[in-house]
Amino acid sequence: MMAAIAAARNGASTLILERSGFFGGNIATQLLEHSAGWQDAAGHPIVGGLPLEMIDRLKAGGASPGLVDDDTGYTRTRLPVEHELFKSLIVEWLDEEGVAIMPQAPVVAVSGAGVASGTEAALHAICETRSGRIAFCAKAMVDATGDADLFAKARCDFHPTSATQPVSMMFKLGNVDHAAALAYVRANPGDFKMDAGQPGFEGRHYYNLWGYGALLRRGFEAGLVSLDRKEMHVACHVLTREAVINVTRYAADATDAGDMARAELVLRRQVREFVRFFRKMVPGYENTFLSATASCVGVRESRRIKGRATLTDDDVRSGRDFADAVARGGFPIDSHDAKGNSMDGTEPVPSGYDIPLGAMLPVNGPNLIAAGRCISAERRALASARITGTCMAMGQAAGTAAALSALSGIPMVDLDITQLQQRLREQGALFGGKTREPAI
Ligand SMILES: Cc1cc2nc3c(=O)[nH]c(=O)nc-3n(C[C@H](O)[C@H](O)[C@H](O)COP(=O)(O)OP(=O)(O)OC[C@H]3O[C@@H](n4cnc5c(N)ncnc54)[C@H](O)[C@@H]3O)c2cc1C
Repeated sequence: MMAAIAAARNGASTLILERSGFFGGNIATQLLEHSAGWQDAAGHPIVGGLPLEMIDRLKAGGASPGLVDDDTGYTRTRLPVEHELFKSLIVEWLDEEGVAIMPQAPVVAVSGAGVASGTEAALHAICETRSGRIAFCAKAMVDATGDADLFAKARCDFHPTSATQPVSMMFKLGNVDHAAALAYVRANPGDFKMDAGQPGFEGRHYYNLWGYGALLRRGFEAGLVSLDRKEMHVACHVLTREAVINVTRYAADATDAGDMARAELVLRRQVREFVRFFRKMVPGYENTFLSATASCVGVRESRRIKGRATLTDDDVRSGRDFADAVARGGFPIDSHDAKGNSMDGTEPVPSGYDIPLGAMLPVNGPNLIAAGRCISAERRALASARITGTCMAMGQAAGTAAALSALSGIPMVDLDITQLQQRLREQGALFGGKTREPAI
């Protein structure tokens, strides 16, 4: 969505193709607890431009309170979202910007080169649509599919994948008695991650928890749930008496249809078991019900393109700056264990780090750029850069690069980086060197 809006703002005739019936990516499909990745560990803003404009729009439209404290202390702030309103506001925003929309249009093939070394060949994305199979033609394309589907169809190279983080299915519970839920938290603070100090929950409309290990153990031992989990994330909306739960998981290759079919079955069963567990064991949830589930299995990690540069684990840990920076990350390295009951790696990232344009461009292939969790990155690096705030910043950069390329006839790999960076800065993007914005 950020790539499409950035491309349109920069003067390109833009079309967004989406396989599902609505726009907004995982925030909408997965009912994410919140969007995160907005500041580095010191509290300096690392995302500007269009994603911040999105926050303002969501606030104005009643779809978010804006950035609120992360009670767990894992990161500085987080952006709770009312998912159903979010879907409406995003599609209206795309339309306002003049982006042509095509939902229910999975890209099933890619052919051609696009703008390539001085020639203007057509690049086609072939989609299944409600009107049949259509080939859409463009000079430049952004692959923001998460799974690098367009790069795969164009037969580009990928980093070898020996293991990936688990897939999950998020769900939302209704009719939660938050006063009772918080009384339990206050009585059992040791069972919750509260690195920011014990939060003052009083009068708050949003709070989030990471814990409940003691109850999860009891639920597993009592046979209520078949999944042995040491902790879960619970993001609460007090006024609507809701809670979004991140606890299910399954080890799957997200590019394998058989694995994903099995994941759908296993994860929905887990959801049902956890609802039973909440009703029987978690104070405040005695009369809860399953009010929503993610519209499909949620993927944390799959294909990573082989780029002209690769964001390494060390780049992220050391807060590296790049000369061809176009976006900035700073979320902790956050890796869920596919086989175990907890995380297999959470590491704070001491300062922000740059995302280089080179990590978004393929070593070879058509005039295609990656944005989001399919960029060229080592696994731990991606475990930080996959957070939605950073993905949206990459989206703005990719859409701007695609527009400059389409309008100038220069392939994205040959764009003048200074010109691209200047355009991004003019449009509010933050990157390149330690961020000078004041900490919050
Ligand atoms: C269970 C779970 C919980 C998470 N929790 C959080 C959280 O709390 N906060 C946070 O910030 N991040 C969270 N993340 C991480 C975050 O959601 C993702 O890493 C991020 O959304 C990736 O962004 P993206 O733009 O690359 O892909 P996505 O957000 O997945 O967007 C990809 C879009 O492309 C569409 N698409 C895919 N293939 C095709 C195709 N072939 N043709 C057309 N359209 C296609 C998809 O339908 C989707 O709309 C979570 C992830 C998961 C799985």
